[in-house]
Amino acid sequence: MKLVSFETAGRKGIGVHLDDGIVDLASDAMLPTDMVEFIALGDEGLARALALVDSGAARITADLLAPVRPRSNVMCVGKNYREHVGENRATSDAAAPQKPPAHLLMFTKAPSSIVGDGVKVRVSDDATKTSDYEGELAVVIGVGGSHLEAADAWRHVYGYTIVNDMTVRELQHRHKQYFIGKSAATYCPMGPWIVTADEFGEVGPQVVRTTVNGEVRQEAPVSQMIFDIPEIIRTVSTTVLLEPGDVIATGTPGGVGVGFDPPRYLGAGDVVEVSIDGIGTLTNVAV
Ligand code: MG
Repeated sequence: MKLVSFETAGRKGIGVHLDDGIVDLASDAMLPTDMVEFIALGDEGLARALALVDSGAARITADLLAPVRPRSNVMCVGKNYREHVGENRATSDAAAPQKPPAHLLMFTKAPSSIVGDGVKVRVSDDATKTSDYEGELAVVIGVGGSHLEAADAWRHVYGYTIVNDMTVRELQHRHKQYFIGKSAATYCPMGPWIVTADEFGEVGPQVVRTTVNGEVRQEAPVSQMIFDIPEIIRTVSTTVLLEPGDVIATGTPGGVGVGFDPPRYLGAGDVVEVSIDGIGTLTNVAV
């Protein structure tokens, strides 16, 4: 199933995206109108949603929002594709050898940076003019927990979505922690929907593809991740109590703007599209 958060006539809700419209889950009074609460219901919520779809419930049209706004910051893996490891570095250490990290590199993005498919990203607010894109597969956590084993990790994956881990490169490099450079308002486009784990299938062959104004910049199968999803979940949950609706972006392939010489940063009018097989396309225009 493809699960969406939406807004229509000033009302927010959640639903199932189908080719001929959205099934509004508010048609079942037992279901919540917030995606985090829905995810927390687990299989029971999915069964009720499927029953609504099968009942032929009315389809509506609505504006899509980001599919989920997690209770915690959006968690992100850095340097998780070999071709990306060496391409994002401060000019001052450009000559330093770049090895893949020995341990998982993680940072987070403020929830206030999250926007949905089609929302304009405000690169003109970036005084440093070093705004960049990073197309990524993101995992949505279902059953929460901490101290999870890699062998059990898939049981905690509810579904997948697309994140464009937008970054102000100059600020990412200026501050020791990435948080400021990664958290500008509108700099976490997410969506267009969550594809449930059963529908997405085995993770590996799906290709992440990012285009800017139609030109392919990033293209790699998610099987190229250095730390795979079970290992990411195991490592994060060593300390972090993962909760339903948490989002972990799994890293970006090579081909980001800062990796070009000279860098090709985003400017007003640029159209960034991130596509992942089995999910769809997340499109955002820079202004
Ligand atoms: Mg990233």
